[in-house]
Amino acid sequence: MAKVDNWQLGREMDYPYEGARPEKQFTMIMDTNKCIACQSCTIACKGTWTWGKGQEYMLWNNIETKPYGYYPTGWDVNVLELLGEQQWQDGVYAGETLFEAAPDGEQVLGWTPDEEDWNHPNLGEDEPTGDADATRYLEDTPHSMMWMYYLQRICNHCTYPACVAACPRQAIYKRPEDGIVLVDQERCRGYQECLTACPYKKTMFNLETRVSEKCIGCYPKIEQGLQTQCTTACIGRLRLTNFLSKPDRPDPRKPADFLVHIRKIALPLYPQLGLEPNVYYIPPVHVPVPHLEQLFGPGVQEAIDMYRNAKDDPDLLGLLMLFGSTERIFDTFDVADGVARGYDENGEEIVAVPVREPTFVRPLEFTTDVKGEAVTGYRHNT
Ligand code: SF4
Ligand code: SF4
Ligand code: SF4
Repeated sequence: MAKVDNWQLGREMDYPYEGARPEKQFTMIMDTNKCIACQSCTIACKGTWTWGKGQEYMLWNNIETKPYGYYPTGWDVNVLELLGEQQWQDGVYAGETLFEAAPDGEQVLGWTPDEEDWNHPNLGEDEPTGDADATRYLEDTPHSMMWMYYLQRICNHCTYPACVAACPRQAIYKRPEDGIVLVDQERCRGYQECLTACPYKKTMFNLETRVSEKCIGCYPKIEQGLQTQCTTACIGRLRLTNFLSKPDRPDPRKPADFLVHIRKIALPLYPQLGLEPNVYYIPPVHVPVPHLEQLFGPGVQEAIDMYRNAKDDPDLLGLLMLFGSTERIFDTFDVADGVARGYDENGEEIVAVPVREPTFVRPLEFTTDVKGEAVTGYRHNT
């Protein structure tokens, strides 16, 4: 195995191939706080890419309710249990990755879902956890005793993909120009080693064509400078398709670099597995931190504090307001005089939004109730 640098672990790690980090890496940022699980993203992807034969069960994009939701069933708890204890010390991962814990003769520690594990994408939907203490819930601390949240999932287009490591045919590859991970369907022989290896379970097997498929990062749109289908369909305007620079050369003018490397408010999903996943999450602010640290690693509390203070942070607030504001990928951004602007690679402005939306206060209406008593209220928008 080669030694490669994994910045998310804060250390080097073993990987079957030499590292080949692209100059710019496809990435998606998700603000989990804004998701309403409407599944518009899921449908946008399905209607575009997986409406064919053998793809009926496939959801390259899925939204699951945490902590009880999974697609496929048990995808993350199974791999966490297999890996055993995972410890961080001062921001450095002290345990083993899936590559380092691989059994003799294999490249990755993995497990294979059963066919029926794909049958219940809505498992655990909207199911909360925590103490259902009605008194406290109602009177003291609303929402604090019970919690759940929505996790937006696509392929992570990992820097060190387990699917690439495990494929005996070298049929899966990472594009040098943007780091998007693709399956060469001519080379694939359907051994399904990628399904076993990918801990996020984001390669899927087509039962008609007998080859593996996965999220393609909407590369035909990316090549035209456009954000992905699941991003532009998002009702909550919580997703951003963008590119990351190399981690030792972050540029604060670039949106993804700003959120991931400069402010560190957007965190990777299960970084301890060692794949350096490239989808990043702004964690949900209402969820217990120990739970979130298992998913997103160290830095959760700082990210939550920063998000809670975003109203006093014009650069961060402005960038969050640019999410969902244009179908085009903006290369850089700035915030000045209450306006957030996005620019293309030539520095031309392509979008501008107010950092704060104006507030309209409707005038009070004076009227009488059914008993003829005087009351005040608001006129409805009839
Ligand atoms: S998430 Fe899975 S399928 Fe996607 S690149 Fe990483 S290992 Fe491969
Ligand atoms: S990036 Fe494109 S292919 Fe991937 S999940 Fe989103 S819509 Fe589907
Ligand atoms: S479209 Fe946006 S808000 Fe709706 S489920 Fe997808 S990520 Fe969440």
